[in-house]
Amino acid sequence: MLSLTPMTSSFDAGPALSAAAGVLTIDLSALAENWRRLARRVAPAECAGVVKANAYGTGLEPAARALFAAGCRTFFVAQIAEGVRARAALGAAARIFVLNGLQAGAEPADYVAHSLAPIIGSPEELARWAPHAAAGPPCALHADTGMSRLGFASLGDLEAALTGVDRGRIALIMSHFVSSEEESDPLNNRQIALFDKARALLAGVPASLANSSAIFLASRPFYDLVRPGYALYGGNPTPAAPNPMRAVVRLEARIQQIRRIEPGASVGYNAQWTAKRPTRLATLLLGYADGLPRSAGATDQRGGAEVMIAGRRCPLVGRVSMDLCVADVTELAEGAIRPGDSAVVLGEEIGVDEFGARSGTIGYHILTSLGSRYSRRYIPFSP
Ligand SMILES: *Cc1c(COP(=O)(O)O)cnc(C)c1O
Repeated sequence: MLSLTPMTSSFDAGPALSAAAGVLTIDLSALAENWRRLARRVAPAECAGVVKANAYGTGLEPAARALFAAGCRTFFVAQIAEGVRARAALGAAARIFVLNGLQAGAEPADYVAHSLAPIIGSPEELARWAPHAAAGPPCALHADTGMSRLGFASLGDLEAALTGVDRGRIALIMSHFVSSEEESDPLNNRQIALFDKARALLAGVPASLANSSAIFLASRPFYDLVRPGYALYGGNPTPAAPNPMRAVVRLEARIQQIRRIEPGASVGYNAQWTAKRPTRLATLLLGYADGLPRSAGATDQRGGAEVMIAGRRCPLVGRVSMDLCVADVTELAEGAIRPGDSAVVLGEEIGVDEFGARSGTIGYHILTSLGSRYSRRYIPFSP
């Protein structure tokens, strides 16, 4: 059964279905099933849920609640503002870690007020947290093992920072993989070795290293807690093999017009694609303002993404406009489609990984760009 999400201040269900140019359907039962698959794979380690960036575009509150209902009790957000939303959606029983740590400009007291655990990654952050450590939830520590982004930059820094810190107020030691989606990348084992040295400084403190793809590494670097995001939302954590996850997101867009153009006529801004044969085109009510990459359409130089219309794959052609894009439907039988019919842009048939790759980006980018102009429908999950 499909249900419209209730309108809330933090969540917009978009226009009414009948008026919507596009429909985004989010399958919360597939999301819950994906979490359970990962949780079974890593047991007895715990499986968390990463719900940053509006739960990868799917909607923070509905996604977090579905994960909680599936059994997830530990959540990761990127920013404190996302943490405040997650806390309001989940209540007191969930643990919530803030990946960006004690954010520059944010008040440590706000972390305490919402029981958000900062993932601390520098001596300065640790000093800012120290006066609040007793009142707040136990924090996490981030050891940089190769990203050069966040985290204690060296084992020496980490060791020095630990003097005088109450280990009982540290919930987790964590780090993050650089290229776990590539099984053969030697960086993986180098990071694991470095992480083991960081862990040794914190005997007895639970450890976490794995994102989605690392859950599928042969070395099984699960430790005590894994932190999948992408795979929960249907992204393929094993790019070299078939996707073991269920699709969560389905994006459909209406066809506004169908037209015929002659060889030599071009499509879209700057005439990037030219018809080589008599061509039939369908104009879709979906553009880059809805999160479609501007580069999703084929040009005369390179191919582009495909959408599914009347059961067949049809290439997007020409530059994607702000509100519209154009599919080449020449291969469909005459009369097979009419204005008002829908094209499937993302779904079981066309995954986010494929759509991202054909648009010159990655599936993560496609998901987190999902726009707000569609009607959003949620397929509920009830355990
Ligand atoms: C985003 C993120 C994750 C989740 O990564 P996926 O590849 O989406 O599973 C885990 N850990 C950290 C530190 C992250 O920033």
